[in-house]
Amino acid sequence: MSFLCTDLKTKNISLKAPAKINLSLDVLGKRKDGYHDLAMVMQTVGLCDNITIDVTKKDKSHSASIRICATGEVPPGFPLGDTNLAYRAAGMFFKETGSSMEDHFSKITIDKHIPMAAGLAGGSTDAAAVLLGLNSMLKDPLPMEKLLRMGATLGADIPFCIHRGTCLCEGIGDDITGLPALPFCHIILAVPPIGISTKDVYEKFDHVKAPKGPDTVRMVKAISDGDLEDICHSLGNVLEYAVFPEHPIIEGIRSELSSLGALGALMSGSGSCVFGIFDDEDKASLCLSMMREMHPDYSVNMTVPTE
Ligand code: ATP
Repeated sequence: MSFLCTDLKTKNISLKAPAKINLSLDVLGKRKDGYHDLAMVMQTVGLCDNITIDVTKKDKSHSASIRICATGEVPPGFPLGDTNLAYRAAGMFFKETGSSMEDHFSKITIDKHIPMAAGLAGGSTDAAAVLLGLNSMLKDPLPMEKLLRMGATLGADIPFCIHRGTCLCEGIGDDITGLPALPFCHIILAVPPIGISTKDVYEKFDHVKAPKGPDTVRMVKAISDGDLEDICHSLGNVLEYAVFPEHPIIEGIRSELSSLGALGALMSGSGSCVFGIFDDEDKASLCLSMMREMHPDYSVNMTVPTE
């Protein structure tokens, strides 16, 4: 399969790339290949990056086939070259569809709003949006199953970021079961100015003695029952054992969100984001302004779960 610029349904597309939070995260074991077997319940939220893809015929002014551009406030350390997951996703898509890279120039513009290295899957969701966007521009040459498999080879969170909504993610994160949507609620995302490497956290976790994982079955049932209170009681992230000793500030944020009225609060993924769930918009708004006032150096956002 190969395509020409004339095969394009449109020559540009704009997409939203939503962040995720982990309502639960359990590590079930370590595999021979070094990856961990996981059981996670993930949820997409309204906070998102905006991605625009422009594909044109390549001319002499283009030194490369893919270019990553950033608009707005570009976070320090944001990769603009071929290490950007969005770049790698585009490269993989073109290889898979047999497109001649010499003929095309793809400009991927990322308007970054999701804090980086925060456990919100910022890079993964940008990559997922690029796979979905390019496929749509070419009138869907690849089936969803294929996109999910391609995503998994780039990053364990990418299949969920393609699927979106509320899901149970097992295996290395790529075995996905869709769940009913979360009951309507408000979510505060609080990110201290600490970037955390996911790889480091899993390495530390391997040395944690007897961690007690969350009750994933209870979480799935609470979601199926639409019971927000039980969802909040079932929140749990086993990676907190690896992160809190080194970053007690993150444990402190969880306590702060609870004392500001959250029904439940938890570190997302490998941190450093902590989220709080509220059933009441006024309480969530008050928490937002208090957190911003107390911690002007944090990124604090109010959002909602999305499908
Ligand atoms: P996850 O929750 O999937 O573990 P994360 O939210 O903790 O990920 P990211 O925001 O994806 O972390 O950033 C981790 C690293 O990925 C960054 O330090 C950055 O170098 C790299 N990266 C590559 N592409 C991107 C991208 N498009 N956006 C953000 N970071 C990217």
